[in-house]
Amino acid sequence: MRKLLIAGNWKMNLGFQEAIDLSKKLANYCKSIKEIDVAVFPASPYIFQVAKEASKTIIKVGAQNMHHEPKGAFTGEISTKMVLTCGGSMVIIGHSERRHIFNENNEFIRDKVKSAIDNGLMPVLCIGEKLEDRENGRTSEILDYQLSGSLKDIDLSPLDKIILAYEPVWAIGTGKNATPEQAQETQAFIRNWMITKFGKGIGDVRILYGGSVKPENAHSLLIQEDIDGALIGGASLSIDSFGKIIDIALEIAKEEK
Ligand code: PEP
Repeated sequence: MRKLLIAGNWKMNLGFQEAIDLSKKLANYCKSIKEIDVAVFPASPYIFQVAKEASKTIIKVGAQNMHHEPKGAFTGEISTKMVLTCGGSMVIIGHSERRHIFNENNEFIRDKVKSAIDNGLMPVLCIGEKLEDRENGRTSEILDYQLSGSLKDIDLSPLDKIILAYEPVWAIGTGKNATPEQAQETQAFIRNWMITKFGKGIGDVRILYGGSVKPENAHSLLIQEDIDGALIGGASLSIDSFGKIIDIALEIAKEEK
């Protein structure tokens, strides 16, 4: 049974006090939750304080990005150790905004995944196709390319070292989510790809869906067989909408989908 993970990617949003207020509300909201996992990815300068607020709860805190080198002349970057020593335990890698706005390629993403795993940070590796790829029937080809490149020569045993997030680029921040059927079909493809590459043991890798998840569509997405949680941008910025999605996941977990 794969535990659902509801994760909030705050991106470059919220002032410091807003981030702390939201963390406090979320910590209170999650006080007695144990059936699902919850994580938040605040802006880097807030990780320490958000992790402090989350420390006595199930909430995990992570970074939205990192550099694979342990230290050095990499202005503006943060290392795995910096994330860990600030109380973070996870990191988003290869988000489509990093791939497409900051031109991060598979090789660079692969080095970050390796560094995160080697240093004990749980990577959430994001993959997803653009609209033109989907319309041209190239979704599987793109995912194959991204998965092969981002996981090249990476040892995933024991097999609980990574979380994947399928985020169709055309659904991120657009209000247009993939239909539950589209997401399910694609995530089943991803799971099969992982099993073919890494063996049966990887079959339980958690694969999140991301792309305009909201309280209104969360249930129909989260009940899908191969959707093990959600990576949420916009709707994670208020306790009202994020809390509702947590409640939906809880309800599904209790019913044991
Ligand atoms: C994301 O940031 O990964 C994301 C899916 O954003 P949104 O939920 O706003 O589409």
